[in-house]
Amino acid sequence: MNIGIDAGGTLIKVVCRDRGSLKYHKFPSIQLDYVASWINGFDEAQICVTGGKASLLKSKMKHKPAEIVEFEATSQGVRYFLTKNDFEEDAYLVTNVGTGTSIHHVTEHWQQRMGGTGVGGGTMMGLAQLLTGLTDYEEIVRLAAKGSRNRIDLLVSHIYEGAEPPIPGDLTASNFGNLLPSASLASLSKEELLAAVIGLVGETVATTSVLAAGQCGVSTVIFIGSSFLRNKLLKEVVIRYTKLRGGSPLFLQNGEFCGAVGASLYE
Ligand code: ATP
Ligand code: MG
Repeated sequence: MNIGIDAGGTLIKVVCRDRGSLKYHKFPSIQLDYVASWINGFDEAQICVTGGKASLLKSKMKHKPAEIVEFEATSQGVRYFLTKNDFEEDAYLVTNVGTGTSIHHVTEHWQQRMGGTGVGGGTMMGLAQLLTGLTDYEEIVRLAAKGSRNRIDLLVSHIYEGAEPPIPGDLTASNFGNLLPSASLASLSKEELLAAVIGLVGETVATTSVLAAGQCGVSTVIFIGSSFLRNKLLKEVVIRYTKLRGGSPLFLQNGEFCGAVGASLYE
C-alpha cells in the first residue's frame, strides 16, 4: 500500500492507495501527534509526505518517509483526477484555496507557481470568528448560504445610480463598502456577515486567478482546497466571477486531496 500525506496549515489529508483504490482521511492539523502514531502502525506501507507541516510530522514518525514539495504533489494529484475523469486539459491554472491561496500554471510535464494571496480559507474562518463569534466550519458555511450581501457590499450599479456603467452593474465595487454610518454588528445578521465574508474571499481568489490565467494564456481554472467543502456559496461566487471575467472554472471531486494523492503516487 502507498500512503500520501498532505499536512497543511489547517487540515492533514491522508490518502491510502491500494491497487488503484483510494481511501481518504482528514484530520485537524492540531492532531499531528495522533496522525503520526496512527501512521506508525502501518509497517509495510510506502509513505510520502508533503505540505507545510510535513517536516514536523516526519520528525514524529518511526520510519522516515519520503518528502516532496507540495506544489509538485498537488499538480500530480490534479493530473491524476483529470485523467480519471477523462478531462482533456493539457494546460490550465490550479488555484488551491487552502488556509491561504496558491496559484499554479500546470501542464502535462511541469508546474510553475504564479503567485497567491493571503486571502483564503483561513481568512474565511478568522473574519467569521471576529464578526460573528462562530468557529465551527460547518455552521459558518451553512449560515452563509442563507445570507444576503445587499446591505454590506457596494455594487457598481450603486455608484452609477441609474447611469449606464462601463462594466456590469452587478459586479462588486467595494466589498463591505455599502454599510450605512449607523450600521453595527448587532444590526446585521450572522447570515449577512458570513455571506459578505465568503463574497470577499471568493471574488478575490477568482479575480486573482483569472488575471494569472490571462498571463499564462489559459482559460481553465481548476479550483481545489478544503475551503470549498460543502461551501455552496463560495463555489457560486467563484464560478460567477471566474466566468464573468472570461475564465472556465472547474471543480474536482475530492480536489482537497490532490496533494495527498500526488504524494501517494511518489515512487
Ligand atoms: P495550506 O495548504 O494553506 O497549508 P491546508 O492544506 O490545511 O492549508 P485546506 O485543507 O485545503 O488547507 O483548507 C483549509 C480550509 O478549509 C480552512 O481554512 C477552512 O476554511 C476549510 N475547512 C473545511 N473543513 C474544515 C474543518 N473541518 N475545519 C476547519 N476548516 C475547514
Ligand atoms: Mg494545503
